[in-house]
Amino acid sequence: MFELPKLPYQNDALEPHISPRTIEFHYGKHHAAYVKNLNALIVNTQFEKMSLEEIVRNSDGAIFNNAAQVWNHTFYWNCLTPASKAKTKPAGKLMKAIERDFSGFDDFKESFTKQSVSLFGSGWTWLVSDEKGSLSIVRTENAKNPLTMEHATPLMCCDVWEHAYYLDYQNLRPNYLNGFWHVINWDFVEKNYSSCQE
Ligand code: MN
Repeated sequence: MFELPKLPYQNDALEPHISPRTIEFHYGKHHAAYVKNLNALIVNTQFEKMSLEEIVRNSDGAIFNNAAQVWNHTFYWNCLTPASKAKTKPAGKLMKAIERDFSGFDDFKESFTKQSVSLFGSGWTWLVSDEKGSLSIVRTENAKNPLTMEHATPLMCCDVWEHAYYLDYQNLRPNYLNGFWHVINWDFVEKNYSSCQE
């Protein structure tokens, strides 16, 4: 049985960029429902004994959708941190790679924002690395994620489903993106970058 992982901070920790009410629904209802649905769907199937990553890589339909959404949301919450603790930009190897592959941090930020704002419908924006440490931005629809892609290890993500921002920003996805940049856990993103190349 999969469990809803504990949030790495309090419900109000991401204020004013993401409200406790959004967390209450996004984590407490949506993320929790994906866990509950997945547990019900895998009973008496080949997936019952697999890890979450194995299910994502080997399933389709409702099992894939719920498993991938469980994985995506856990990763998303880990990508965020209270604004008071958040660094404004990454450092070290990751920052060097961003400067190399996007002609600077501001260009990366602009490109990631643009791709997030213009994604039609529901989905996710990801910063990914290949085996050589080359970075790129990819977008996925609905529950899809880079675990099923070749040469793409996810480093960070932004959830652009309406449920991620509607309570705080209504239809204004660009304003949600603006807030998102204030609460990124760059330590987590840097750690993902270091470990994908070892
Ligand atoms: Mn979501």
